[in-house]
Amino acid sequence: MSEEITVQKLLLPLVPLRGLNVFPRTLFTFDVERKSTVAAMNLANKNNRLIFLAGEKDPTVDVPEAKDFYAVGVVAKIRQQLQPPGTQMCRVMVEGLYRAKAEEITGCSTGFMAAVVPLQEQPERISAAKKEALVRSNLSLYEEYLQLIGEFTPEQMLGLFADPEPSYISDFLAQHVQLGYDQRQILLEELHPCKRLELLTKMISHENDILSLEKELNDAASESMNKTQRDYFLREEMRIIQSELGEEGSGDEIEEYREKVEKLPVSDEVREKLLKEVGHLAKQPYGSSEAAVIRSYLDTCLELPWGKTTKETIDIEKARRILDKEHYGLEKVKERILEYLAVRQLTPEVKGGLLCLVGPPGTGKTSVAMSIARATNRKLVRVSLGGVHDEAEIRGHRKTYIGSMPGRIINGMVQAGSMNPLMVLDEIDKLGSDYRGDPSAALLEVFDREQNSTFRDNFLEIPFDLSNIFFITTANSLSTIPPALLDRMEIIELPSYTDEEKVHIAKKYLLPKQRKIHGLTSTQLKVNDAAIRAMIAGYTRESGVRLLEREAAKLCRKAASGIAEEKFTALSVTPDKLHDLLGPVRYKPEEDRKRDMVGLVRGLAYTSVGGEVLDVEVAVVPGTGKIEVTGNLGDVMKESAHIAVTCIRSRAEVLGIASDFYKTKDIHIHFPEGAVPKDGPSAGITMCTAIASALTDVPVRHDIAMTGEITLRGRVLPIGGLREKTMGALRAGVKTILIPEDNVSDLEEIDPLVRVQLNFIPVKTIDEVLSAALAGRLPSAQNGSFRLPGKAHSEAVASI
Ligand code: ADP
Repeated sequence: MSEEITVQKLLLPLVPLRGLNVFPRTLFTFDVERKSTVAAMNLANKNNRLIFLAGEKDPTVDVPEAKDFYAVGVVAKIRQQLQPPGTQMCRVMVEGLYRAKAEEITGCSTGFMAAVVPLQEQPERISAAKKEALVRSNLSLYEEYLQLIGEFTPEQMLGLFADPEPSYISDFLAQHVQLGYDQRQILLEELHPCKRLELLTKMISHENDILSLEKELNDAASESMNKTQRDYFLREEMRIIQSELGEEGSGDEIEEYREKVEKLPVSDEVREKLLKEVGHLAKQPYGSSEAAVIRSYLDTCLELPWGKTTKETIDIEKARRILDKEHYGLEKVKERILEYLAVRQLTPEVKGGLLCLVGPPGTGKTSVAMSIARATNRKLVRVSLGGVHDEAEIRGHRKTYIGSMPGRIINGMVQAGSMNPLMVLDEIDKLGSDYRGDPSAALLEVFDREQNSTFRDNFLEIPFDLSNIFFITTANSLSTIPPALLDRMEIIELPSYTDEEKVHIAKKYLLPKQRKIHGLTSTQLKVNDAAIRAMIAGYTRESGVRLLEREAAKLCRKAASGIAEEKFTALSVTPDKLHDLLGPVRYKPEEDRKRDMVGLVRGLAYTSVGGEVLDVEVAVVPGTGKIEVTGNLGDVMKESAHIAVTCIRSRAEVLGIASDFYKTKDIHIHFPEGAVPKDGPSAGITMCTAIASALTDVPVRHDIAMTGEITLRGRVLPIGGLREKTMGALRAGVKTILIPEDNVSDLEEIDPLVRVQLNFIPVKTIDEVLSAALAGRLPSAQNGSFRLPGKAHSEAVASI
């Protein structure tokens, strides 16, 4: 302490402090403006330069009276006083000496005088360890405080650690930490240094908490500020780099968009909407995700073929030439297409069109559509609908989505580049529908002549004219096409090919096409008819010619690589070379079927890939009358199995089957290839025959196949898909087919070449089926109900 503390009363000029405090043993500088205060300072300077610093209770009071001062203050010495020339104000530096209490304050001409007595610090009963702990915790709080306000230096702390005495430390901290005016006054009036430290611990902790919260808020704010600034700088840099590189800046880009939109041949409404989007784009920061969305929107709109068309020509003779040149056979199909085109030629006011080509894969649906496009001079686009579940895939996603796009139809139009393309919608029978909406409803709108001239895609948000599109849909089967769609389409069916047709197609179309693709001449690769037949039988099992084309391509690759490697100059393919060229035979003729077997019957099925042979096996074992049906069957087929069992049960006696078989035997009906789902009623007579054979132990003729629905009373009902089933039977080497009598009229649709190779037996009841199919004498055949198949049937068939 620089001045000695005296205990006598002193009369000192009072210097009022508003909102500040000065503590003993600290230096403090402040400005004085009030005239009375300046006078008090001057008075002190004339004497011993001592003043009494007293805080005003209410700092807002402009002209204080004696009662407005706190009694406890500090006696201080004026160290320096500066008065800038021409001003009232003066700046003073004081040094706090000791706490004192004003016993009396009196006003005088120069301000206030205070009669003060020094206040002694009070002795404390507290352990040295506690004292040290208090000091240390306060110092570490102070360190934290300095760090929070960003003014920490290690030297500052060193000075404090050098004199860790509670009285000094507490006053130092009270002076230097930013505390409230009231809090400081409390600290000033507290005469126990350790109590002051205790109070300070609370006050500084509180202050630190507030500061760290403030810092967090500031950091977050400045981080976002920094990011915005950084983005701004980067964007500016990019702009500069782009202009250096001579690339368009966003200003040019906006102008370009605007010009392009102005030139589009669109309605005012559409133009306005597009210009509005260009305006939006101009407001977006360059490179923002919003800008990217708008740009992709504008690009899509500008790419659409507004007003562009190709001149449609409908010349029936030319169309016939093109169809004939590119497709073998398919006479009925070609005829139907030409008729359709002729009608369109006569009614040009009907703009679009909607055809549906149905048939197994590889029967030429797509290539027929391509020929129609060429024949009518329309551009061709293909849009696949297989597996489309979501309405938005047809109608587009709203462009507020990130990564949103227009639907497939509008995308197709972008690809087509003309308003009147021929659009092939593949696999319309594989459309799904679920919680994401019904795509077929959207397609209805696309096809509807009333609505499709102003089709609204969710992404585009502007009407687009689809009415000039010629739609051709393709499907493998009609059964899964939503009926509402089916109603609107003109259906043309493409049948399976016979082996003869396949040979012809391979020779005249597939091989020449593949040769051309692989750069081969007809002398470099020759494939004889026998080899083609062997390829059809051993390497493909299909209704169309898709796999055959693939195998032909494989032969071409082998030929091309052999010639390139100079292994040979030409390749002539005969059946014996196929093993080396195409690998081992994939489909062998079934060996088992040389024998008649018990409980095994060939049924016929119609699948999306065409007709197929579908075996049914029945085993009868001792049991309690359970009926087991396996092979991944649908409900209709399971019901049909139960009907079959009942039907046989009703004929047990005639067939010579023990009448209690339904109590003593379990019947297991199985359709092999359990992984393939199967359904439908047309295996009814097949199951019946297998059950009867298994129960009577009479084998079934190996060379026949059958199809027909059965009723409880044993009537045989007609079935669908006869033509395809027949082809499947022929492929599998079947010679005789039992068909429901009501289907006889359908035989006309079957290719005559196929018809002559097969023996059809029309049947009306299950009794006729059994008598034709079971190869042997039934236990009770003596009664004349059954006879073995004989000439009579074959003769009956010959007339078909
Ligand atoms: P789909 O669309 O019915 O599945 P594609 O049209 O793709 O069948 O036909 C498969 C291949 O077979 C194509 O290369 C096609 O040219 C050819 N093709 C199909 N049918 C015939 C045919 N009658 N005459 C000539 N080539 C055909």
